[in-house]
Amino acid sequence: MADQPFDDRDGSIWYNGKLVPWRESNLHILSHGLHYASCVFEGERAYGGTIFKLTEHSKRLELSAQTLGMAMPYTVAEIDDACIEVCKDNNIIDGYIRPVAWRGSEMMGVSAQDARINIAISAWDWPSYFSPEARMKGIKLRTSKWRRPDPQTAPVHAKASGLYMICTMSKHDAEAAGFHDALMLDWRGRIAEATGANIFFRFDEANVLHTPTPDCFLDGITRQTVIFLAKKRGIKVIERTIMPEEITKANEVFLTGTAAEVTPVGQIDDVKFTPGEVSQVLMDDYEREVGKAPATAASAA
Ligand code: PMP
Repeated sequence: MADQPFDDRDGSIWYNGKLVPWRESNLHILSHGLHYASCVFEGERAYGGTIFKLTEHSKRLELSAQTLGMAMPYTVAEIDDACIEVCKDNNIIDGYIRPVAWRGSEMMGVSAQDARINIAISAWDWPSYFSPEARMKGIKLRTSKWRRPDPQTAPVHAKASGLYMICTMSKHDAEAAGFHDALMLDWRGRIAEATGANIFFRFDEANVLHTPTPDCFLDGITRQTVIFLAKKRGIKVIERTIMPEEITKANEVFLTGTAAEVTPVGQIDDVKFTPGEVSQVLMDDYEREVGKAPATAASAA
C-alpha cells in the first residue's frame, strides 16, 4: 500500500506563527518560492521527545535565508519554540521535523524584494531513511553525472531548495539502476557527498578517517557531530581533497546526515566494501549521542 500522501494527513502544521490543520496549510500556485526557488529548509530529528541540535538547525535556517537575501520574520529562539510546539501538538516523540521558509505571492518575477517571507514547520514519524536491511549490509551508491556546483555559481552552503534539483535527478538515476543513492562529485571532479548526506572513508590506517573538505557543499551538523565523536575515541579525522580514483583503496565508507544518521556504504559503482569496526563504533556512538539505545554492541569492545 502506498504511504499516505503528505498533503492528506491528520495533525497540525505551524504556519506563520500559528498552528493550522494539516490539510489546510496551503500556499498559492503563484508563490515565488515555487517558481524561482527562493526557498530554504531544514531537516531535524527528534529522539525521545527532544530535537537533536535544534538551535544549530534553526541557526542554519536563518543563515540559509540570509544567504538568499530573505529576512526571517522570526528569531532563532522563536523557531526553536515553534519546532517544539509542533512536535508536542502532533505527539511526535521520535520523528522528523521540517521547517521551510519561502517567498510568497506578493511579487511574481525574478526580483521579489517585497514578497513576504513565509515559514512553516511540520513534523512526522520517520524511523529510518534507508531500510534497516540496506543499512546493515551497507547501502549502494552510484556516481552521478551531475556535480555539486562551484561556490561562485550557487549558494552552496545554504540549505536552499534549488540546490536539490540535481540531487533528485541524481538519486532518481541511481535508484533506476538499482542503487540506493548517488555519490556526487564537485565541479572539479573531487568526491563531494551523497544527495542528502556527507561521506567518510577509512583507508589502510585503522584509526584514521578521511572526509572531503566542505568547500562547496553542506558541512552537515551530523558530520560535525561524528568528527567530534571520532576524535573523542582517538580516531583521527583528516579533511582533504579526495579523488574518485581513491575509492578502490577504501576499506570502509559511511554516510552521515540527520536523516541518514550514520549509514555504512557497501558499494560505490562496482567497488564493494564491508561495513567495519569504525563505522559500527561511530554508528553506536552517534545513537548514544542522540539519546537512542545503540542497535549493536560493537562499541562495547
Ligand atoms: N548534504 C546534503 C546535500 C544534505 O541535504 C544534508 C542533510 N541536511 C547533509 C549533507 C547532511 O547535513 P546534516 O548532517 O546537517 O543533516
